[in-house]
Amino acid sequence: MLADPLPTDPHAVLNEVFGYTAFRGHQAEVIEQVISGGDALVLMPTGGGKSLCYQVPAIVRHRAGRGVAVVVSPLIALMHDQVGALEEAGVHAAFLNSTLDAAGAQAVERELLSGRLVMLYAAPERITHPRFLAMLDSLRERGQLSLFAIDEAHCVSQWGHDFREEYLQLGLLAERYAGVPRIALTATADAHTRADIVERLQLQQARTFVSSFDRPNIRYTIVEKDNGRAQLLRFLRDEHEGDAGIVYCQSRKKVEETAEWLNAEGLNALPYHAGLDADLRRRHQDRFLREEGLVMVATVAFGMGIDKPDVRFVAHLDLPKNIEGYYQETGRAGRDGEAADAWMAYGLADVVNQRRMIDESTAGEEFKRLQVGKLDALLALAESLDCRRQRLLAYFGEDTAPGYRCGNCDNCLWPPERWDATEAARKALSCIYRFHQHSGIGYGAGHLIDVLRGKSTDKTRERGHEQLSTFGIGAELSETQWRGVIRQLIALGHVASEGEYNTLVLTASAREVLRGEVTIELRVPREPAPRSRGGRTRGATAGRAAKPALHLDTDAQQRFEALKAWRGEVAREHNLPAYIVFSDATLRQMAAEAPDSLSALAGVSGVGAKKLEAYGPEILRVLGDLR
Ligand code: ADP
Ligand code: ZN
Repeated sequence: MLADPLPTDPHAVLNEVFGYTAFRGHQAEVIEQVISGGDALVLMPTGGGKSLCYQVPAIVRHRAGRGVAVVVSPLIALMHDQVGALEEAGVHAAFLNSTLDAAGAQAVERELLSGRLVMLYAAPERITHPRFLAMLDSLRERGQLSLFAIDEAHCVSQWGHDFREEYLQLGLLAERYAGVPRIALTATADAHTRADIVERLQLQQARTFVSSFDRPNIRYTIVEKDNGRAQLLRFLRDEHEGDAGIVYCQSRKKVEETAEWLNAEGLNALPYHAGLDADLRRRHQDRFLREEGLVMVATVAFGMGIDKPDVRFVAHLDLPKNIEGYYQETGRAGRDGEAADAWMAYGLADVVNQRRMIDESTAGEEFKRLQVGKLDALLALAESLDCRRQRLLAYFGEDTAPGYRCGNCDNCLWPPERWDATEAARKALSCIYRFHQHSGIGYGAGHLIDVLRGKSTDKTRERGHEQLSTFGIGAELSETQWRGVIRQLIALGHVASEGEYNTLVLTASAREVLRGEVTIELRVPREPAPRSRGGRTRGATAGRAAKPALHLDTDAQQRFEALKAWRGEVAREHNLPAYIVFSDATLRQMAAEAPDSLSALAGVSGVGAKKLEAYGPEILRVLGDLR
């Protein structure tokens, strides 16, 4: 049937194999660079389309007789699915990692040496194993080593939190296989990590491609925590019923409690943290990838390489350590480019905890200072009254015009009301000062608020605090407002919280506030988010937000459901996640257009030649049954 030679033009390959019509962003340039034999360093946000940057060159070079591409990835759990996706698209691929038994590994090695294989995924420790290097040597001698792709390249840097010892060894590929193009890819953008990658992987000659790190389809929302659980539940019920998503918590205990509680509330939630045994973790991850609409409640142990494209929300019940962490975690939402939410509840206790964790760590002073600086940047984001996206981008060195409004964050969509809290801040600070003056010790936020509001308690009486000049000077503000003031003062570093009892103490900069040299503006605490059910798509028309999902009328919706059911069967049969067979977006387009011929079906984005051949008749039958 295929009398024509297979295309070797990158664009034709994109079309024929992946069923897409155009390259995105820097893809075309990167691909050109690698095909022509050069090295590349690719910095692209999650969901930007990094995989095609090495997959297309691998296919093109294999078709040109240049052998196999070796893809280094630390994500053993995902190799099976990645290889499955390629095989579905008609590209011969395999993986080598510790999940294979000896016979399985030998079979892959035979394929590798046979020349048939287009791509081999391998764990880093495999690649640098002498036995494997010997095989690569032999391929290299025969001109059958087409390229190296090093995915998640930031793992080579101790700077980030994903450091892998084995990645350091990968530097040897540069000399040993000089002339074989190497492409390193990561979604971690900061300059320090980048420099580490260049140096340790010896990519001094590589062309660097830096994409914008903006994720326009992600809506950022940071709410003030009063009852985190209740707020989370409201968010899940109102906006993400039946959606897949991740809820991040700081501790293992909280992960388990939250998952249990969500289940009791009728949601489908699973826990994931490093304390669960490996087998259970694998099962939970697998279910999250394969089933629809699961909520994963997890610590940061869950995440790297979760390339499930239809994660519709990432929620934080606790404050992450810094903006890098926040951005990486929230970045797992909406890889498919459709509308997704990054939601976080944040409160006084979060600020106190994070500050204390740094204080109490055994790290050196310089490291601590660095951590404090990073936390401060995240706190400024959480407290900010202006566009969240602008702040995020600025943090990663991307400037936007002054007054920029993204139209797809809480502050842009529902500009917060502000109030001048300068006077209130001064009252709080002088009350803290009085405590020390009067009792020689400090007190926590709860007691401070009682005193400010003039609330008589056992403690205020016993300590004689009702006689303080500051007793009752802040009766006009609610407890919530006071918590906001204190949180902000800690976030801004005018107050520190110390010791086992979270005692509040003034810092050097408090004096400036007391003297009235600094004004403090706070947002007026908001009532539950002013959104309605299905609010997720409402703002989607604003600014540069995600394209709204294709609207389906009743008939089309019925076709979509039928196609999803069919896809589910295929996925089960092939032991692959459903989105690898076809994405939701592809099925939705099929449902909307209801193609009645193979050639019409071929026009749907995401339908390549192999899938058309394998599934076309079936899809036409499913659609035809509903006609
Ligand atoms: P990353 O690894 O950068 O997070 P992926 O490579 O997983 O991103 O790509 C994200 C999604 O975008 C995938 O579903 C992929 O098929 C899709 N995609 C990538 N490039 C294109 C393109 N040029 N046209 C259409 N879809 C694309
Ligand atoms: Zn905004």
